[in-house]
Amino acid sequence: MLKRLRLMGPVLFRLVLLCCTSLAIAGLVSPFWGIIVLIAGLFLEILMDLNYIVLLAQWLEDPEAQSPSVSSGLWSEIFYRVSRSRKALQTNTRRLQDREARYRKTLAALPEGIVVVKSDWAVSWCNETAERIFGIHGEDDFGRHLFAFVDNAGVLAYLKAGRFDEAYTWRLSPEKAFELRVVTVDRKNAIVVARDISEQERLDAMRRDFVANVSHELRTPLTVLMGFLDMALHGLTDDNNKKVELQTSHLSLMREQAGRMQRLINDLLTLSRLETGSSDKKPEVFSLSALVSTITEEIRVMAINTHQVTSAVAPDIWITGHPDEIRSAIVNLMTNAVRYTPAGGQIHAHLAVRDDGMIVISVVDNGIGIAPKDIPRLTERFYRVDKSRSRDTGGTGLGLAIVKHALLHHNARLKIESTLGKGSTFTITLPAVIRVKDEEDQQQHAG
Ligand code: ADP
Repeated sequence: MLKRLRLMGPVLFRLVLLCCTSLAIAGLVSPFWGIIVLIAGLFLEILMDLNYIVLLAQWLEDPEAQSPSVSSGLWSEIFYRVSRSRKALQTNTRRLQDREARYRKTLAALPEGIVVVKSDWAVSWCNETAERIFGIHGEDDFGRHLFAFVDNAGVLAYLKAGRFDEAYTWRLSPEKAFELRVVTVDRKNAIVVARDISEQERLDAMRRDFVANVSHELRTPLTVLMGFLDMALHGLTDDNNKKVELQTSHLSLMREQAGRMQRLINDLLTLSRLETGSSDKKPEVFSLSALVSTITEEIRVMAINTHQVTSAVAPDIWITGHPDEIRSAIVNLMTNAVRYTPAGGQIHAHLAVRDDGMIVISVVDNGIGIAPKDIPRLTERFYRVDKSRSRDTGGTGLGLAIVKHALLHHNARLKIESTLGKGSTFTITLPAVIRVKDEEDQQQHAG
């Protein structure tokens, strides 16, 4: 109440003063002039208020304008309060805008395509990924109907059906697919999320293929083993109804099949160790020259009666890495060279340092060679060009996959060059070269 009186004080004072003055003039001069002064005073008061109202209206129209300086008590209070709530509103708006910008930035950075739509499917915002997926041209297309950007009947049916508890798989090609989800935010807004699931589908297919391949590889030797075991247990009869006894040749076949399964399991374990990088061994400095020489010698002895194995190994090449893995890669290349080169053929291993410092290990054969179309797929697990030759020579189809992963660990690359019927060259390029001798020399110089 007091506050109200304080605010009204100046106006009341002016009105009382005006009344007293009018009364005095009415008494002293004439009632007519008293009324005129009263009307003129009231008119001035109204004019002053009108001026302030117009000032307020103008000020409110321009959000950037400063608060005008007002001397009148009541009006200065009104301007002060409006200015205060206006500032608070501006701060809140700025805060909300900042928050919205932050949310948009977060949504924009998501790898998923995000489209915010109104209840009538009008696009109100989308991130860059969604622009690419749906072909929306940024803000120019905001407000347009989402269905205008979808030319897939399945997707349209999914969006129109409105049953969004399940996702929809939008397949663009055998290799490209998106998972669509619609999340309802409130009665007026929803978010359409498009996630690229191509890579996930590729990995799932690879996993399925892998399991199918392993099962297939194990089934053949197991069937053979089961056959012989049945023979031993129940005794089988041949075409002439004569009982077939288990013979040493059968036992050696069983041994062979068991060996095939063992090789497969060993290769699978090696591959899994390489793929998961579970080797907890620390990299070590070892002589690549000694390793290549030893492997070549082993292969020469192994193929002494069938192939001519030669080598040219540069001395004192040392590298940092996992000798077991590099050994496994070179052994696989050398045994492959023997297996895919007919008897009488030549295998040559070569180790050298190139002018640019790269180390090069090549395994060259003059064997059956590989057709150009097969070369890019050779390092895939279980990919074989000549299936029967691979199996007959004890292959698991995992050798080159092991080579690939062993090399990946060493930042090394495998290059395959081949001519069908003439032979192949498998070249490993390793980056760093450490010459222990050079280092020793340097240390001696420094000393
Ligand atoms: P495998 O156990 O079948 O040899 P790899 O992964 O070692 O499996 O090799 C994959 C395929 O690449 C082989 O099946 C074979 O067809 C082909 N291959 C590998 N090395 C050679 C080579 N030196 N000459 C010709 N073909 C080769």
